[in-house]
Amino acid sequence: MTENQNLYDILATGFSSRPDGACFIHADGSILTYGDLALSVGQVAALLLDRGVEPGDRVALQADKSAEAVILYLATLKAGGVFLPLNTAYTASEVRYFLTDAEPRLFIQDAAALVAEAKGSEPMAASVPRTAGDLASIIYTSGTTGRSKGAMLSHGNLAANARALHEIWGFTPDDVLLHALPIFHVHGLFVALHCAFLSGCPMVWLPKFDDVQVLAGLGKATVMMGVPTFYTRLLANPGFTREVADGTRLFISGSAPLLESTFAEFEARTGQRILERYGMSESVIITSNPLDGGRIAGSVGYALPGVDLRIADGEATGVIEIRGPSVFSAYWRMPEKTAEDFTADGYFRTGDVGRMDADGRVWISGRAKDLIISGGYNVYPKEVELILDEMAGITESAVIGLPHPDFGEAVAAVVIGSGDEAAIIAELRQSLAAYKTPKRIFFVAELPRNAMGKVQKNLLRDQYGSTFSTLP
Ligand code: AMP
Repeated sequence: MTENQNLYDILATGFSSRPDGACFIHADGSILTYGDLALSVGQVAALLLDRGVEPGDRVALQADKSAEAVILYLATLKAGGVFLPLNTAYTASEVRYFLTDAEPRLFIQDAAALVAEAKGSEPMAASVPRTAGDLASIIYTSGTTGRSKGAMLSHGNLAANARALHEIWGFTPDDVLLHALPIFHVHGLFVALHCAFLSGCPMVWLPKFDDVQVLAGLGKATVMMGVPTFYTRLLANPGFTREVADGTRLFISGSAPLLESTFAEFEARTGQRILERYGMSESVIITSNPLDGGRIAGSVGYALPGVDLRIADGEATGVIEIRGPSVFSAYWRMPEKTAEDFTADGYFRTGDVGRMDADGRVWISGRAKDLIISGGYNVYPKEVELILDEMAGITESAVIGLPHPDFGEAVAAVVIGSGDEAAIIAELRQSLAAYKTPKRIFFVAELPRNAMGKVQKNLLRDQYGSTFSTLP
C-alpha cells in the first residue's frame, strides 16, 4: 500500500509537536493553540463522518472568515472529503449554481455552530488515507466570462506547493504570519495557511484588511501576505512608517499586478522590497521573486522549483504555459474545457500573457483575453499602462479595447486621476505607435476591483462599450 498522502497529515507534521504553540492570535488578544486546533479538527472530522461524508464527498462552505471555518477546512481533509469554499459575496442564485454543479454532501454557512456541536466528542484518530492524486479541494475560478469553472486540486498538488513555498520563503517556527486575506480564495486559504501550518508558526488572525488592525498586527508579525491594494492602503496611512515595518522580515504580494510605483514607494518608506509572486486557482503559486537576491519591480520572479514554464509557440511574448506537481488535473465536470486548456504534452495554458528574460525571470503583460487587437495589430495593455502610470496626475490606469466600427477594437484608457485628455493622448503618442495610443481617456475616482484586488476590465468594457459605436 502506498503511504498516506492526506494533506492534513502532511500539514500537521509542522505543528503536531507544538500543541502549546499559538496558531491563531485574534485581534482581541485571545489565542487558539495548535493543540486546540488539532483537537477540534478531529472532533469535527468525526462529526462529518456522522453526517454521512464519505471519501471524495464535497463539503461546501460559505461563511465569514473565522478560525472555525479553517477547522472545517482541515476536518474535511482529515475525513477524506473535498473542500469547496464559496466567496461570501456570491448571491443566492450564484450559490445555487455551485451547489448544483458540485453536488456537495453538506453545505455549511455556520462553521462555528458545527465546531460547537462537535465539542467534547471523541475526535477521529487516524485521518482517512488519501493518495497524492485524490481530490482535496475544488476552487471555482472568479471567471469573468461564461460559467465559473471548478479547478480540481489534489492532496499532492497542494502538498507540493506548500512545501515549495515553505522552503523558498524561509519559514520557521519563529515566524508570525499576518493573515488579513479572505479564505475563500487560494491566496488566503492555501498559500498563507499552509506556510504557517508547515512551520507551526502563529498567525495574527484578522477578519479582513483594516489598516488600523494591520498596523497593530505588524508589531508582532515577521511575514505579511497581501494583495496589492493592502500595500497601497498601508502606504496611504502616515502611521505606516519604517519603524512599524522594521520587525517584519518579508512582505509578499500577489493575486494582481503590483504597480511599480507601489513597489518604489514601499521601498522608499520602509527600506524593504515587496516580494511579488504570481499564482492562480489552477496551480496555486507558479513563480516568485527570490527571498535572497534581487526582487525587481514589475517582474513576478522565477518559476518555482519543479515548475516547467514556457511561452506558447516559442514566441518572445505570448501565453504562459506551465507543467508541474501543483498544476491541477481538470475542471470539475468540464472535460471539453479541460482538454482545450491543456497542450498535447501536458502543459496548462494559463491565459496570462508574458515573457521570460534571459535570466529566467517572468514578466506578465496581462490576460490573453484582455489583449487588444486594433486594426489587426496586437496591443498589450500593460505597455500602455506602464507609461500612463508614470504621468503626473495619474495614479493608476486600466487600458481596454472597445468595439470600433473601423478598427474592430480601439484602445481606450480608464485612469484614476485627472488631467487634460488631449494633452495626455499627445504625450503618449510620443512614445507609442498610433495604433497603441488610446483614442479616449476616461477619468475616474476608483477602478472596479474584485475581492482579491484585481481590476475588473470586463466591467469597464461593458461600461464604456458604446464609446465608438456611434461614430459617423
Ligand atoms: P485567481 O485564479 O483568481 O487566483 O486569478 C489568477 C490570476 O491572477 C492569474 O491568472 C493572473 O492573471 C493574476 N495574477 C496573480 N498574481 C499576479 C501577479 N503577481 N501579477 C499579475 N497578475 C497576477
